[in-house]
Amino acid sequence: MGFKRKKTMWFQRSLLNNMAIAFVISLVFLTTTQLVSSVPPPTALRQLPTAQVHPLPPSLSQWHDPQQSGDYFDQVQTVAVNYLIWSTFPVAVYVEPPTLVEQAVPFMANRAKTWVTAIEKAVQEWNFYLPLKIVEQAKDADIQIRRSALPLRFNRSNQDGENRKLPILRARSAETRFELYVKKTTVAAFDPPSILSHRVAVSIRPDQAAEYLQAAARHEIGHALGIWGHSAQQTDALYFSQVRNPAKISARDINTLKRVYQQPTRLGWNLAS
Ligand SMILES: [Zn+2]
Repeated sequence: MGFKRKKTMWFQRSLLNNMAIAFVISLVFLTTTQLVSSVPPPTALRQLPTAQVHPLPPSLSQWHDPQQSGDYFDQVQTVAVNYLIWSTFPVAVYVEPPTLVEQAVPFMANRAKTWVTAIEKAVQEWNFYLPLKIVEQAKDADIQIRRSALPLRFNRSNQDGENRKLPILRARSAETRFELYVKKTTVAAFDPPSILSHRVAVSIRPDQAAEYLQAAARHEIGHALGIWGHSAQQTDALYFSQVRNPAKISARDINTLKRVYQQPTRLGWNLAS
């Protein structure tokens, strides 16, 4: 969608050497981001806590938009737990460091470093509105952000209702998914309460210029923090498509986030024992 990606040396070499790879790379320009929800079976849903409203974190309760620029809350989807809301702060974020394999190859080491720097900048941007902290260990994280290449996905949907003979292969530049789990708190020694919790996994491909990596991370972290939907305006970080001049976090993004956090959720409440 008008989004140009800088080709790397590696890509250019592949392009010359391998026609099959050249085919795939040409499709990389059709970038999309993907939201993936896990849906528990209906029997499990009945046992989930009732949805209730958590107190607004101070950073959001203090947020006021004097311009009254509006929001796109009506585009935010509810999931099995209603809204995806964090209730324990700071939210722990893990940013995948360069791996040993990457460190062994200067090109990959540099690319991984650029990626880490860009992602951490995006974490800091959101930290102003919701407290986040970067943790060293993936196991301690609420949100894990990784570089893993996303598999190409066949897209059989089509707007005019006809069946296409060939499905369109779409390469995704980023993806955010969440899963639910039961957290045992360690506050009480006996019979600690079990809290319905969620974890989010974000994948962002490393083969982009730093500015676009940061924009992709800004966008995906917005999903991870609870904006489970897209804006129709290019001036919002959660605009549905990648653009040449990516938007910063906008007042509309934060107005939307604040409205999400004013909603009831099943997350963060005790499960009946
Ligand atoms: Zn998105």
